[in-house]
Amino acid sequence: MTDDNGTRKVMILGSGPAGLTAALYAARADLEPLILEGTQPGGQLTITTDVENYPGFEDGIMGPDLIERMRKQAQRFGTKVRFETATEVDLSSRPFRVKSDHGHEYAAHSLIVATGATAKQIGLESEAELMGYGVSACATCDGFFFRDKQLVVVGGGDTAMEEATFLTKFASKVTVVHRRDQLRASKIMQDKAFGNDKIAFEWNAVVSDVVGTREGGVEAVKLTDTVGGEQRSFPCQGLFIAIGHSPNTALFNGELETDSVGYLVVRHPSTRTNVEGVFAAGDVMDPSYRQAITAAGTGCQAALDAERWLDEEGY
Ligand code: NAP
Repeated sequence: MTDDNGTRKVMILGSGPAGLTAALYAARADLEPLILEGTQPGGQLTITTDVENYPGFEDGIMGPDLIERMRKQAQRFGTKVRFETATEVDLSSRPFRVKSDHGHEYAAHSLIVATGATAKQIGLESEAELMGYGVSACATCDGFFFRDKQLVVVGGGDTAMEEATFLTKFASKVTVVHRRDQLRASKIMQDKAFGNDKIAFEWNAVVSDVVGTREGGVEAVKLTDTVGGEQRSFPCQGLFIAIGHSPNTALFNGELETDSVGYLVVRHPSTRTNVEGVFAAGDVMDPSYRQAITAAGTGCQAALDAERWLDEEGY
């Protein structure tokens, strides 16, 4: 919905469960929200397989299917979805201005930031060099290419366990390399991994180098012991990085308040940020839960907060 000057009431940046749920609620409040989908339409759920903990799907649902349903539901009530990425925002005065990679400039009275988080990398030169050539951050995208290979997954959280378990469909063996001797993953995910006889663990170790070439792929990783410091070579043909995520907040540098890690800070129990009229939802503001259902929940809150705020302001 735009006013006489072409200003929208609500714009949403990001199209994961947070952005799409915010859109659903805003659309049902007749605010005709516009979503800029971002570089990864649908967000992280589009690179996962079975989602078994989203209520309402007793047999689980594939991540991309869940997102597709959310998108259709939001569109059914009038959400406009554009495959564009916000490249610049100006929150210094209202209406807020958003420029996109398609050269469009939008104006909006309120903004819901649901830009999510991106998978972290270890930070090795060899890792960057071989990314896409045997090194990957997405088992569901690339697992298929590693049939009967020996793989290493780095990380000790739920993502690492999920990726390792998924990769056993293709690989002959998957070794999880974790920097401590205890996993961070939830008990159910740990049990699944411990019960899988194709999965082995290397404790107290980090990957300190990746050996291979773009032509020939990965041949081995170098492991450094985090207790004694010894180094050794560990043969494998693929490396999957699953060491967590960083919030996508670079776009708002200096304009929106973040914590020391970069997550947007909201005024609990609301989703209000430090800038009036700007709300945040999902992984971009959530350093602790980071579930599809909590992202959807905060998306709903952000839309309700935006609707109330627009009302208070007389828009
Ligand atoms: P996470 O919980 O932050 O775990 C990251 C893991 O990587 C930790 O074990 C950490 O080690 C390790 N790590 C971090 N930096 C490292 C580095 N530079 N080198 C080596 N290891 C490093 O991240 P996540 O697994 O991506 O999970 C994120 C959130 O999504 C969690 O809340 C999780 O519950 C959720 N999630 C849920 C599901 C599900 O329910 N099906 C699936 C996936 C993710 P330390 O343990 O030593 O810190």
